[in-house]
Amino acid sequence: MNPITGLYLLAHLLLSLVSNHPPAVDKTDRHYLKTAAESIALVHAKIFDGTGSPSRLNQTVLIKNGRILAVGASAELTVPAGYETWDASGMTLVPGLIGTHNHLRLPQGAMLYTGPKLYLACGVTTIQTCGTGHPAEELALARAIGEGRYPGPDIIPSSPYFTGPEGRDNFVRFTNEKQVRDSIRYWARQGVAWFKVYRNTRPEDLRIIVDEAHRQGAKVTGHLCATTYAEAAQIGIDAIEHGFIHAFDFAAGRVPGTCSGSTDFRSNLDANDPAVQELIQLLIDREVAISSTPAIMEAQARGYADQPSLEVMDPFHVRAYQRRREEREARGSEGYFKEAWLLRSLQFDRAFFRAGGLLTAGPDPGLHVLPGYGDQLNYELFIEAGFEPEAAVQVLTANGARLLGRTDIGKVQSGMRANLLLLDGDLEQDPRVIRKPFLVFKDGKGYDPQKLLDAVKGKVGGAMDDAWRVD
Ligand SMILES: [Zn+2]
Repeated sequence: MNPITGLYLLAHLLLSLVSNHPPAVDKTDRHYLKTAAESIALVHAKIFDGTGSPSRLNQTVLIKNGRILAVGASAELTVPAGYETWDASGMTLVPGLIGTHNHLRLPQGAMLYTGPKLYLACGVTTIQTCGTGHPAEELALARAIGEGRYPGPDIIPSSPYFTGPEGRDNFVRFTNEKQVRDSIRYWARQGVAWFKVYRNTRPEDLRIIVDEAHRQGAKVTGHLCATTYAEAAQIGIDAIEHGFIHAFDFAAGRVPGTCSGSTDFRSNLDANDPAVQELIQLLIDREVAISSTPAIMEAQARGYADQPSLEVMDPFHVRAYQRRREEREARGSEGYFKEAWLLRSLQFDRAFFRAGGLLTAGPDPGLHVLPGYGDQLNYELFIEAGFEPEAAVQVLTANGARLLGRTDIGKVQSGMRANLLLLDGDLEQDPRVIRKPFLVFKDGKGYDPQKLLDAVKGKVGGAMDDAWRVD
């Protein structure tokens, strides 16, 4: 054996020993905690409880063994002996955020290492990934986090993208009914809870997808185009993505069953138009949720990344962002999505919410919109659009829980899992306080946002970001 071959075999043997070894990940979870106490009292906090009720001042929350034991006025609820007490004077407590369009990939890079940490650092404790090109990886990650072996939000795994006969190569394209039903059964058995349909899905495709997914106890959401919102509601879809920006119901010159027609409705149609009101009522009657993604629309309309996002992005993505900026300035024009569309879409969201519709949100990571930071931006955009703080909190917490069929999360109430976000400031006075997580609780474990952020600096979407077990 020559020395090179010898070295190669030795390296191979060592590698195989390492890869057969169970990952030691419990200690990494502990590394990111600010407190590991089993009994914690947060005192003198301002609370938005997630139900849409106005804020309550000077509240105490008792956390024990991962659950919320009690919530009450600090003057009345005494802290029992043995509790670690945190003074939350001047701070705001809300439920852990629940995102319903929260990918773990950027179009040009995985975020399996950084995504979960970034979500958690920003106070997002549950995500629905809403379509993925890599369902098996995300199922494995969801399991590892669920078993407490890895820090991150609870992940509700989603399917590959389903679409009509037309569509991208890595989608499940419709060829025949059996193929679609088999594919849905397969992914449901692997643990997929949500199926995502994409633009070219026709009404006849959607009917089969919804029928089979519901048979498997799973739900369906869609980024629609060839199927209108009204058609999807009649067929029984559970949610529709991106607010009302793809409501081709209102597109002039549309050919039914195809993704076609003018997008002028995005500029012209008013949320008070009787046709819009009628559609809103149909969605509500059919219990179809709207999952809004204002952060990615804002990124397309306004085009500026903030400093914290640039600091965590891999250099490749920072350069791509800078190139986009230069091109845009050279062009001197707006991006594909216009500012007016963003503002109009938010008014549609508001009209739907006010009429009693189930509105949820997610950032739809892409461009410079990142996990967590995009969820925070969603909050600010809802406030900009005229939502009351308690309503915006409800959209980002309890409404997400309701859509996901969860009764153990989304509210600051006794008996709930202790998934909580403590913000350093008064969220009611300043929406930007959403960007100041001080402590993030998941199952009562108090994570330190800064430690999680330190671990992802300069790494998001980079070459190593599909190696989610590196530490
Ligand atoms: Zn998306």
